[in-house]
Amino acid sequence: MIPFSPPRIDQKIIDEVTAALKSGWITTGPRTKLFENKLKEYADVPAVLCTSSATAGLELMLRWYGVKEGDEVIVPAYTYCATANVILHCGATPVFIDSGEDFNISVKEIEKAITEKTKVIIPVDLAGFPCCYDYIKELVNRKNIVDKFVPATIEQKKLGRIMVLSDAAHSLGGVYKGKKVGSLADITVYSFHAVKNLTTAEGGAVCLNLPEPFNNTELYKKLCIISLHGQSKDALSKLEIGNWKYDVKEVGYKYNMTDIQAAMGLAEIERYDDDMLVKRKQIFDKYSEMLGKHTWAQLPEYEIKNKTSSYHAFLLRIKNINEDQRDEIISKIFAQEVSVNVHFIPLPMLSLYKGMGFDIKNYPVAYDNFSREISLPVYYDLTDAMVETVANAVISAVEKVLST
Ligand SMILES: *Cc1c(COP(=O)(O)O)cnc(C)c1O
Repeated sequence: MIPFSPPRIDQKIIDEVTAALKSGWITTGPRTKLFENKLKEYADVPAVLCTSSATAGLELMLRWYGVKEGDEVIVPAYTYCATANVILHCGATPVFIDSGEDFNISVKEIEKAITEKTKVIIPVDLAGFPCCYDYIKELVNRKNIVDKFVPATIEQKKLGRIMVLSDAAHSLGGVYKGKKVGSLADITVYSFHAVKNLTTAEGGAVCLNLPEPFNNTELYKKLCIISLHGQSKDALSKLEIGNWKYDVKEVGYKYNMTDIQAAMGLAEIERYDDDMLVKRKQIFDKYSEMLGKHTWAQLPEYEIKNKTSSYHAFLLRIKNINEDQRDEIISKIFAQEVSVNVHFIPLPMLSLYKGMGFDIKNYPVAYDNFSREISLPVYYDLTDAMVETVANAVISAVEKVLST
């Protein structure tokens, strides 16, 4: 069976994790700080905070911005549930937006959804393909949109407009107009979950890139405290001789990353662009070459003018089929010992959100994309021969279903 997305666990990862274990310091410490600095350089942003997951990072930043009951947060209908659940945890209301042809939030639809209650927009770079950040940035700064904004907290007054919080769970290394994902929004959150391009088993990172008068370095220090119970000193600095006293001034969270996780991240970030992304691009190119010969195949965009993907997931669509045919194709692919997936079931189709009154009929493009979509395996250890096996399994499954 060809698996869908196993992590790369090679000797380098094992050595780095072993070194962290042997160091005697396993929770947040020097390795986490070093990983934060590497990510800061990588994304070219003023500060990066590592967290226990992307979900924790997203919620932390919504809470920091003061998002609460009565507020609205704009998200794509086509994403993983984490993007919307953090909004619900804050007591706020998610406002779903339909997709574009490229699977990402349809930026043209955002403006109509903005009300006096809108506090944040969370674009998602689906499959690693960056959203139209210039459009979103221009929109939140447009006079009539700024005039609509009703700030309720010090942070909201300071920014004076809707905050752009990018869910970059898929798009570490993606590039938009020459800039890396991380430096494109006010705040950007990466995920290092086991299936993501760079993994620390579980983990995430928050890139701080807020405009003046915010001080991102000061904010980083504040977030270190909020992500660790609100305690004024972390465990490592409390170990310094005589430095045991601490205070708690606000209710914090327990969202910190451990040095064991950071050890994996340090091993991967060094070889991310020159090795991981190169390999993933080769896989995308090979799928495109093999499947592109077939008129039924609709290939995903991953390199166009101004946008380069992080090659996270290969979202193939089959032209002119319905959801049942897609499901049938998937079972015929699995029957050939090849694992595939669907990214994602649009949120308005899931019970939780359906129960809140959302209806997939209002998101026709998201539904169309979903109903014809099959995600193919993309990972470091996927060999050329395996890519061929996958592509051939897809071709034979599609042709069987189309001929019946
Ligand atoms: C994986 C994922 C997340 C959540 O990441 P965690 O690190 O598991 O919390 C959020 N958004 C999207 C789009 C994802 O795919």
